[in-house]
Amino acid sequence: MNSRTRYSAWNLLASALHGQADWAPAWRDAEPKARYDVVIIGGGGHGLATAYYLAKNHGITNVAVLEAGWIGGGNIGRNTTIVRSNYLYPESARLYDFSVRQYKQLAQELNFNIMFSQRGVMMLAHSRHDLDSQSRWANAMLSTASMPHSTRPNTQPASTARAARAVCT
Ligand SMILES: Cc1cc2nc3c(=O)[nH]c(=O)nc-3n(C[C@H](O)[C@H](O)[C@H](O)COP(=O)(O)OP(=O)(O)OC[C@H]3O[C@@H](n4cnc5c(N)ncnc54)[C@H](O)[C@@H]3O)c2cc1C
Repeated sequence: MNSRTRYSAWNLLASALHGQADWAPAWRDAEPKARYDVVIIGGGGHGLATAYYLAKNHGITNVAVLEAGWIGGGNIGRNTTIVRSNYLYPESARLYDFSVRQYKQLAQELNFNIMFSQRGVMMLAHSRHDLDSQSRWANAMLSTASMPHSTRPNTQPASTARAARAVCT
């Protein structure tokens, strides 16, 4: 029968009565066409996001995604799944921030539970080197974030340990 397309708790339960066998396949086994407007090599996170946003934001739907293995079977299917925007430089932080905002609405857009759930993250410094690089990270975040001044740690070099503690609390 393979007809169910709407992902919901109710449909999941109802489908359990049929051994979850009545879900329509999420994508079809397409026969390649003679021409495409865009051909994307690699059906990983970047390739699929490119195809999705080409269609969603630019109306370009005549797109082929060529995947050597299986869709999502590369790095994107085996990473730590930390979605964050706490990187070093303001320019890249803005890009990552933008990506995080995209993730926030993706489940609704796709009608698919992408299991995105925002939490804090605790990074432990195991060495002097870790401490230095994590305080550099923390300071970069603080200098770009809209954190109130009173909650910022002292960012002088001597305060490395304090800054690192601020990352960890
Ligand atoms: C162990 C690990 C942990 C990670 N943890 C995180 C994390 O917590 N947070 C984070 O943001 N990032 C993390 N990353 C990085 C993140 O997963 C990658 O940056 C991201 O998946 C890259 O996406 P991609 O689409 O470029 O590559 P991929 O997801 O690897 O997709 C590339 C696809 O292209 C296909 N392909 C390659 N060559 C061809 C070809 N010639 N023809 C057709 N298809 C081809 C491959 O089969 C593959 O499916 C992690 C990576 C790893 C390995």
